[in-house]
Amino acid sequence: MDMLDAIRNSTRDTVSYTGRAELSERVLDAMARVPRHEFVGADMQSRAYLNTALPITHGQTISQPFIVALMTDFIDPQPDHVVLEVGTGSGYQAAVLSPLVSHIYSVEIIPGLTETAGAVLERLGYENITLRTGDGYAGWPEHAPFDGIIVTAAAPHIPAPLVEQLKPGGKLIIPVESPRGAQELILVEKSENGSTKERSVLPVRFVPLTGER
Ligand code: SAM
Repeated sequence: MDMLDAIRNSTRDTVSYTGRAELSERVLDAMARVPRHEFVGADMQSRAYLNTALPITHGQTISQPFIVALMTDFIDPQPDHVVLEVGTGSGYQAAVLSPLVSHIYSVEIIPGLTETAGAVLERLGYENITLRTGDGYAGWPEHAPFDGIIVTAAAPHIPAPLVEQLKPGGKLIIPVESPRGAQELILVEKSENGSTKERSVLPVRFVPLTGER
């Protein structure tokens, strides 16, 4: 099955959790445009367009395309938006965001992954993505505030610095550990007056957020 059809099917199958029967066409177009095979190793080429997470180097993963599309859709990306990603990994999520927003700042804790992702993104001509190695728990205060924040590793709680670095009206989507080893994707929305509300979007499974905090 075509990867976009598989994403559409997963979207319909999870509507009772997410409340979204369809993702925006802009997001689906962006998914269709990114050559996912460039972001996985030689041993994963035959599986590159399956709707599944796949192993990359350093014991990490490239996320399931449906989850990438869903998280992208939930931050409601707009052409003038500046977005922070925590967990660059392969660089795939940043590449999906590239045509949808003005700039992406992406933080990765493993230097080797920042290097590999940077080389692929540069070779493919993505010009609005800035990478840095560091602990994304602290966000990227020099470029804050952000219209949207996507965290692609599971945190024990919602990091306060990320909520602080969200613009009024902005959206943060993050997998958070819940009791008994489960995880939930949580959407945090900051209102224009600065108050926040959270809601659980979907049970998920991500690699853990590491780092000192
Ligand atoms: N977004 C990635 C992609 O499109 O390939 C998938 C990322 S993978 C599921 C999660 C990534 O988060 C890993 O590369 C991991 O090293 C990174 N990570 C874990 N803890 C982190 C932290 N504290 N700060 C930044 N990155 C972190």
